[in-house]
Amino acid sequence: MIDSHCHLDFPQFDADRDEVLARSEAAGVTALVNPGADLESSRRAVALAERHATIYAAVGVHPHDAATLDGPALAELRQLAAHPKVVAIGEIGLDYYRDLSPRDRQRAAFDAQLALAAELNLPVIVHQREAAADVLAALRAWAGGGHSGCVLHAFAGEEAMADEAVAQGFYLGLGGPLTYRNARRLPEIVPQLPLERLLLETDAPYLPPHPYRGQRNEPAYLALVAHRLAELRALPLETLANQVTENTRRAFRLKPDTGST
Ligand SMILES: [Zn+2]
Repeated sequence: MIDSHCHLDFPQFDADRDEVLARSEAAGVTALVNPGADLESSRRAVALAERHATIYAAVGVHPHDAATLDGPALAELRQLAAHPKVVAIGEIGLDYYRDLSPRDRQRAAFDAQLALAAELNLPVIVHQREAAADVLAALRAWAGGGHSGCVLHAFAGEEAMADEAVAQGFYLGLGGPLTYRNARRLPEIVPQLPLERLLLETDAPYLPPHPYRGQRNEPAYLALVAHRLAELRALPLETLANQVTENTRRAFRLKPDTGST
């Protein structure tokens, strides 16, 4: 399996990163995509990908830090993205829940990084919270008659997002919240989505699946999300895992054997 979204470069893993990687491999996670959150984290993601064959990087500035994306920062992202192990621009998007950067700066940073992805022919990894309408409008304008690929990360069950994903050929990232006992929308909508559009992710160190809520998440827990997805789709775990791994390779244009055990 491939963890399509985790932040192993974050300081939460500084003390035991190698053990975390060993545990994830033992749990069947044989490749990971580590998106950047700001310029510094994007640099760290690329450095990690250089050190570990199983780690791929994405580079981008998260909406929380959108106000930091100036001309030189965008130029450095472009430079970092040329690295052969950079598979996407991300994570980028809009977050109107926390509003840590002014909304006009968020929209400007999102548009600039969408344009960068189109220029470099790379897929994007999109974060949104309470900003679905604006994210969808931006993605619709960006996609036009075609696009370089898009993963809607941390899909929370919004119908408008799902409809757009299906219509445009975007991918939906499913993580820990799928396993939550009080989850409502997700267990209802996930069985109806096209299986070939679904990816698995942990978003570690955030959003740990049940029964690890409240603790640090790590990629080894991807198996719990996979179990829950297999249950919801009424598929044997192995069939589900193979299909989703195939989806992840397609989404990020990884080598055909990436993620296989
Ligand atoms: Zn993330």
